[in-house]
Amino acid sequence: MAVFVYKFGGTSVDSVERIKAVAEKIKQARDQGDDIVAVVSAMSGETNRLTSLAKEMQQQQPIDREMDVLLSTGEQVTISLLSMALIDLGCPACSYTGGQVRILTDSMHTKARIREIDDKNIKADLGKGNVVVVAGFQGIDDKGNITTLGRGGSDTTAVALAVALKADECHIYTDVDGVYTTDPRVEPKARRLEKITFEEMLEMASLGSKVLQIRAVEFAGKYNVALRVLSSFKEGGGTLITYEESQMERALVSAIAFNRDEAKLTITGVPDLPGVASKILCPIADKNIEVDMIIQNIAADSTTDFTFTVHRNDYQKSKEVLKQVCRDLGAKQVTGDDSIVKISIVGVGMRSHAGIASNMFKVLADEGINIRMISTSEIKISVVVDEKYLELSVRALHEAFGLEKENV
Ligand code: ASP
Ligand code: MG
Repeated sequence: MAVFVYKFGGTSVDSVERIKAVAEKIKQARDQGDDIVAVVSAMSGETNRLTSLAKEMQQQQPIDREMDVLLSTGEQVTISLLSMALIDLGCPACSYTGGQVRILTDSMHTKARIREIDDKNIKADLGKGNVVVVAGFQGIDDKGNITTLGRGGSDTTAVALAVALKADECHIYTDVDGVYTTDPRVEPKARRLEKITFEEMLEMASLGSKVLQIRAVEFAGKYNVALRVLSSFKEGGGTLITYEESQMERALVSAIAFNRDEAKLTITGVPDLPGVASKILCPIADKNIEVDMIIQNIAADSTTDFTFTVHRNDYQKSKEVLKQVCRDLGAKQVTGDDSIVKISIVGVGMRSHAGIASNMFKVLADEGINIRMISTSEIKISVVVDEKYLELSVRALHEAFGLEKENV
């Protein structure tokens, strides 16, 4: 008998009808003799609704501990309703909050990390033939306080439970039917991938793909849990995220990710001296602004130009900070652009092949697209281009790297 952890996201449980459909799906698996632990999110929009209530109540930053007590209620609603739906179908079920399972976390409210899972209650219930329904996104600290794991945290709950229970597979049911070669809304010829490696999925998640929470992918990779992304609404095998195997499709480029939330800033004419990079970036970090790509160029007159990207929401704030830095360093000027995007090609196949970067640049050049910045890692190449070229770039690269065809 196999053990599966099934996770259902907010859109899969956002109405009575959908919860009933989820219950049907679980019952089918149960009827085949598998043990099922279902992890559910709050109904879609509910966590946002609760967050705005808290903000109305406490205009300044709401107290984190109380925030967790509030936010955890969303999942408590869906676990009980799903258990009821299962029982109605003649499928015995039992719901658990994170604390009731005993998903022990640290005390970092609103972004807690799981330390340990006690599998005793769940195993006993499975032994009795029950489906176990667990609230995602929440746990309890060693003092008994309710904690939450950060937005999208139900994926992490599911993976952590799969690790603890040594589940055969962890299924993430969502509103898309798998991981695609790129976003089908931008390139309709995008193709669902049968398989993708953990490394590629991690890159994709950090580059802006929202299919899976990045922490969940890290966790699954670390413990080698077979993770599958599937649709709650459509039949199909979804995408398996796994370690590279010899029979794995060997594309040079597996997928194209992009991120529209980018902005870039440049400070020019900076004296080229030791410590300059830290003098520019420390004040930015002090404001809690995350920096992504960084480029430094040495000019002939022994000054340097320094460019970096930030989230578009942080653009104005970064510009203010940088203007002060510019005065302090006696640099020339600060310029910036918040209508840029980052496009990345990702693939473990790149590791063993030269010339992929130049190929990528040529494809963009042939379309007359100017590349503003470049950064690379072992398995990805990212470029920054003007926002207006996003669709054109993605489609041209998708075609050039043969992503619409099945690879062998
Ligand atoms: N309900 C939480 C959120 O919206 C957790 C989750 O959905 O994974 O972030
Ligand atoms: Mg969610």
